[in-house]
Amino acid sequence: MFNARDIFKNHQAQTFPFPSCLEISSAKGSYIYDINGKEYLDFIAGVSACPLGHCNPHINDAIKEQLDKYSHVMVYGEYVQSPQYKLAKLLADNLPQNLSTTYFTSTGTEAIEGAMKLAKRATGKSEIISCKGSYHGSTQGALSIMGNEEYKAMYRPLLPSCNKIIYNSVDSLVNITNKTAAVVIEPIQGATGFISPSNNFLQKVRDKCNETGSLLIFDEIQTCFGRLGTLFGFEKFNVIPDILCIAKAMGGGMPIGAFISSWDLMNLLTFEPKLGHITTFGGHPVNCAASLATLKFLLSSDIMKEVVRKEQLFRSHLKHPKIKTIRGSGLMLAIEFEDEELVKKVVEQSLESGLILFYFLFTKTALRISPPLTISEEEIIKGCKIILETLEK
Ligand code: PLP
Repeated sequence: MFNARDIFKNHQAQTFPFPSCLEISSAKGSYIYDINGKEYLDFIAGVSACPLGHCNPHINDAIKEQLDKYSHVMVYGEYVQSPQYKLAKLLADNLPQNLSTTYFTSTGTEAIEGAMKLAKRATGKSEIISCKGSYHGSTQGALSIMGNEEYKAMYRPLLPSCNKIIYNSVDSLVNITNKTAAVVIEPIQGATGFISPSNNFLQKVRDKCNETGSLLIFDEIQTCFGRLGTLFGFEKFNVIPDILCIAKAMGGGMPIGAFISSWDLMNLLTFEPKLGHITTFGGHPVNCAASLATLKFLLSSDIMKEVVRKEQLFRSHLKHPKIKTIRGSGLMLAIEFEDEELVKKVVEQSLESGLILFYFLFTKTALRISPPLTISEEEIIKGCKIILETLEK
């Protein structure tokens, strides 16, 4: 007998021994539906990748319209394709002058890889500094700067000259020196459970980069496109990077990423050697059309303005003796519990009750909340009630 779960487990490579195996039938707005018609309120949004919810008609229409015109026609950077240049222009219009030029990729990891290469090329230096506890992707360059040895040990040797600072530790900034090509940092550290910067930490990193002639790379793969209530996270903290990496929400559910910098820096990838970074599918026109529709919709609506109020709603409804603290900012929240077992229980039992929650990569005592930015107040209250009821069980 045909059993989708067995095929999924036996023929689709797995990343984890106990996947939830939810069998998806459809998704709309803040809900995902399984093959039995059960609805699940989605507090995760594809791990922050669906800012406008599921099957948003503006995005779907843009995708369909582009598909009917043309899909893939040529490798990145050869032909003038309107979804690409219109998206690059709208990004530039909403970014500071030094972030005028976009290189489109297919994923966030590839944006990080491109940014690391660009920093080495621009500075003539090789050391990349990142933070303990950071996650920037799983390919070998991104893995080299990952801040968790457990996930790296089996894959060594990795890139040399990758060193660390500690997020929010000003003392550790001595590790940024004249040898440093770039510092890669997330405005809110994701994998350790949404740690926010304190005491102007990002500005201090910026100052140290200026002092040492190092480039500052912001990994905004999780924070971009409104998650903190501003289009990009750096706006919230008033610190401008030299290279900005974005992905996830940028595609409105479609796979696209980008690294963005000044025209002068980006131009370095065009000579000695030319084709300094190439990709076949980066900036796929259909994905650019989806991204452009997402960006236009975000800019023309009140969605970003409502993020802070929605954050407050989460915080005020998630009060329980078993909740130690709530970290994070905007619609990027981490609920911290006493122990790992409780996290597992809440995630699993909430799923049974029709609420999707998820784990963090490195922190086991917290669970993540990163719903679509379009989530309604009623949906927030409904989901919080499920969490509280689960804690009472
Ligand atoms: N950087 C951060 C902060 C991320 O959260 C992720 C993905 O979770 C990545 C990089 C890698 O992005 P992608 O999975 O699109 O390659």
